[in-house]
Amino acid sequence: MIAVDVKYFYEKLEKLLTTPSPSGYTHEIMTEMEAWTQALGYAFEWTEKGTGIITIEGKDDSRTVGLSAHVDTLGAMVRSISSSGELNFTLVGGPIVPTLDSEYCTVHTRDGRSYTGTFLSTSPAVHVYKDASSKERTPDNMSIRLDEVVKSKDDVLKLGIAVGDFISIDPKTTFVNGFVKSRFIDDKASVACLFGVMKHLSENKIQPNFKTKVVISAFEEVGHGASYLPSDIKEMLAVDMGCIGLDLSCTEYDVSICAKDSSGPYDYQMTSRLIELAKANELSYAVDIYPFYGSDVSASLRAGHNIKGALIGPGVHASHGLERTHFKALENTMKLVYLYLTA
Ligand SMILES: [Zn+2]
Repeated sequence: MIAVDVKYFYEKLEKLLTTPSPSGYTHEIMTEMEAWTQALGYAFEWTEKGTGIITIEGKDDSRTVGLSAHVDTLGAMVRSISSSGELNFTLVGGPIVPTLDSEYCTVHTRDGRSYTGTFLSTSPAVHVYKDASSKERTPDNMSIRLDEVVKSKDDVLKLGIAVGDFISIDPKTTFVNGFVKSRFIDDKASVACLFGVMKHLSENKIQPNFKTKVVISAFEEVGHGASYLPSDIKEMLAVDMGCIGLDLSCTEYDVSICAKDSSGPYDYQMTSRLIELAKANELSYAVDIYPFYGSDVSASLRAGHNIKGALIGPGVHASHGLERTHFKALENTMKLVYLYLTA
């Protein structure tokens, strides 16, 4: 069984979580991962749309299997600049908007400058606005207060800030009592899990059963992440956050195996094999149905790829808000990915 290099894993996890990468702005973290991959001795290619593809030679190279996880996250973009110097924004992906109220953020200009600010409601002061508490938190009722002396739209433009600049949300990454507490655990924790598995394979010179392509997708949160796949991939295991809540059985300590989500049921044989592997190796796991969800496998199938696909991932609480999971869920996920490749 895999022995996780915990120090390596946390180092990569922290770097992933704290490097801004809203969908469409993932080049910096992708370049970082290219270096990590080369350090492990594997090949890394970029596709035109910015996906990273890592190739691991297998014992039998006549078949290629895929693993995927997405490094892009939710975020925002400057929509307009108000006459008094606040930034109006449009969302990138689907965060729980009320959770953005009072969150710190960074505006990234296209010429490489960055400025900090805070998401606030347009009735931000309880001593002034009757509806400070009750105003609905939507992008139309919110704006960004910059930490710069700006009194007009012109002052903002002079900073080099323009419509179309990316805005990243402070992830508030914290490691406490075995918990990982942060935004964007979806899906950066899974990316870190894949590096955890690759570290073990590389260090111990273990070859997976088949040639393996690890797809690090960059547009999952906006729906078309892994819509392009290398044509030799015959089956793909998407590693993405597991849902928690309602009548679902997954917890923050489990690897979740998704039997069906909004895009329909996952491949019967692959899913059954994953359940068997989890059971036989006494992993802490849950099989669930995700009510509102699609994965990189869904995007590939919708784009017309003729693949088998399955979905697993660490149980993540409060997804698209202030998320949390536990190292146990991440470890169970790494174990199941490792078994999928080598058992
Ligand atoms: Zn995700």
